[in-house]
Amino acid sequence: MKRAPSAFLTVQEGCDKFCAFCVVPFTRGAEMSRPVSQIFNEAEGLVERGVRDITLLGQNVNAYHGPMGSADATLPQLIKELSKINDLKRIRFTTSHPMTQELIDAHGEVEKLMPYLHLPVQSGSDDVLKAMNRKHTAKSYMEIIEKLRFARPDIALSGDFIVGFPGETDKDFEQTLELVREIKYAQAYSFKYSTRPGTSAADSKKQVPEEIKSERLAKLQNLLSKHQKEFMGSMVGRILPVLLERPGRMDGQLVGRTEYLHGVHATIDQAQIGDIVNLRILGADTNSLRAEFVSF
Ligand code: SF4
Repeated sequence: MKRAPSAFLTVQEGCDKFCAFCVVPFTRGAEMSRPVSQIFNEAEGLVERGVRDITLLGQNVNAYHGPMGSADATLPQLIKELSKINDLKRIRFTTSHPMTQELIDAHGEVEKLMPYLHLPVQSGSDDVLKAMNRKHTAKSYMEIIEKLRFARPDIALSGDFIVGFPGETDKDFEQTLELVREIKYAQAYSFKYSTRPGTSAADSKKQVPEEIKSERLAKLQNLLSKHQKEFMGSMVGRILPVLLERPGRMDGQLVGRTEYLHGVHATIDQAQIGDIVNLRILGADTNSLRAEFVSF
């Protein structure tokens, strides 16, 4: 039976990183990776049933180290194996904790690896990142982005942010805004810090008052949504490959996704669900794009 052309495929579970706000290492346990052959067979099965776009899932997916023959494969090796499946056209992965050079290079080497990456940073302040027990600084994160943009100039970024982590000062928060201004995320998810029992930050005496968290979140979200709109607007006038995913509400309308996961609506009678077609983007609405058919 045919199915929707996009699918998630779990390749890795658990996490050994113990970020100070996160329950995953406690609820999901230690890092565990599925064997390459098992994932490959499952991906082939999905593709036979019409899937063209697979997102490899893991709580800390770039820690993937599943067996391949007599050795363990890395995530980039797994991606390269999967890219050999002919009718699999698009590969993504999420969620990644910053990130090896080999994986950065894969963005320049594997055309099927989409130029859209979710790379959570959480904060732009090194003091907060240290308190969060993240393994990167703002600078090392920025360096990774620079290398990614060098390897794949059309790459766009999505990020995660927590505001009001215990001990976060106005200056720390300003550094987060600075980082956001610098990177200009295409998409982002931002939250107020909330305590998770059992995590190391939960008992901190330096909790930030709720109203300050709310103010900071509003400020951050304003900036993020401005960049998000600018990025969507920059699609208008371009011809983009779009994977057609489902019928739209109007007669003859199909809805698809760009490489950047923007929803696109177009009236098309030349193509069907599962096709990747070139569409000219005519306009940007709040959450989706409007387009017309150009070619296969
Ligand atoms: Fe692991 Fe991500 Fe949770 Fe950190 S935030 S502990 S990297 S799952």
